[in-house]
Amino acid sequence: MSRIRPNIEAMAGYVPGEQINDPSVVKLNTNENPYPPSPRVFEAIRAALTGDRLRKYPEPLGDTFRKAAGEVLGIDPDGILIGNGSDDVLTILTRTFVPEAGTIAALTPSYLLYRSLAQIQGAKFAEIPWGEDWQLPEAKAFAKADIVFLPNPNSPSGTSVRIEKLSAFAAKLPGLFVLDEAYAEFAEADGVPLLKSVPNLVITRTMSKYYALAGIRFGFAMTTPERARDLNKVKDSYNCDALSLTAATAAIRDQPYYAELRSKIVASRGRLKIGLSELGFRVIPSQANFVWCRHAEKPSKPIYDALKARKILIRYMNYPTDEGLRITVGTGEEIGKLLSELRRIV
Ligand code: PMP
Repeated sequence: MSRIRPNIEAMAGYVPGEQINDPSVVKLNTNENPYPPSPRVFEAIRAALTGDRLRKYPEPLGDTFRKAAGEVLGIDPDGILIGNGSDDVLTILTRTFVPEAGTIAALTPSYLLYRSLAQIQGAKFAEIPWGEDWQLPEAKAFAKADIVFLPNPNSPSGTSVRIEKLSAFAAKLPGLFVLDEAYAEFAEADGVPLLKSVPNLVITRTMSKYYALAGIRFGFAMTTPERARDLNKVKDSYNCDALSLTAATAAIRDQPYYAELRSKIVASRGRLKIGLSELGFRVIPSQANFVWCRHAEKPSKPIYDALKARKILIRYMNYPTDEGLRITVGTGEEIGKLLSELRRIV
């Protein structure tokens, strides 16, 4: 007889964004980079396909990647944990730090995976509403949490909490503070300088957005070497394959290429915000590679449906406290197409 754990039977399961592999669809629903990865990534993968790389196991801790990332980010490579996407890193953090019947806390609206991680672990999930203007509420609301997950910039709002506010907040938390920086490279500031002064901090990053490698699956965490040692006990021995390690290392080494993409995306983000505002949308100023908006008069779901019928896919999100449209910043051409279709729809 199979006896499923009751918490797994009871949970709905995380539903990822729709992945349509049709080049005629303008895909602005899961915050991928609209530009290709660095040419050096393709060269490195091609080189890895010759010789012995696929026959042999990859580096278990990803030392070559850790050294490169340590140099680029100015941190101790021994404090880096590698993951099969940052979702894997979030799972490893949960398994390491949250006991059964423990507590995960997160703000709402924010990344929906945190709830699923709590459910899988058999932990409680405490959802705390954002304060006015997407500011942090009092830290005492998180008093019981073994882990607090905070995306910065947040999804779906695209807003950022100022770095100065984060260390005071972290100091009041009893447990681990995980700053999920999936979108931090698009923001004005990031939390890396806090690693030296905030002892309960872990920062997670992904190669899926800024580095244009969502298909490769690679993410990592930055923390103290002692904590990274404990996290490494929990991860699968070879959680990142040889090709993802190769791609991630080549990408993180090519900072000039990605700085150029960033300028284009930040400029397009500005154009998208202006265009949407002119059409009557209320758009929240974004620090990420997407914007969160709602039309001043029209409901969001029919707008999403009408765009989908015209082969433009964005994300409709309906939280208990908020609903709206999350739109990834695409290429200039994609944004032009989106805005001209929206002009007809609204
Ligand atoms: N954190 C946040 C806030 C995200 O939006 C995402 C993307 N869905 C992730 C983490 C996970 O990204 P990945 O697993 O592709 O690294």
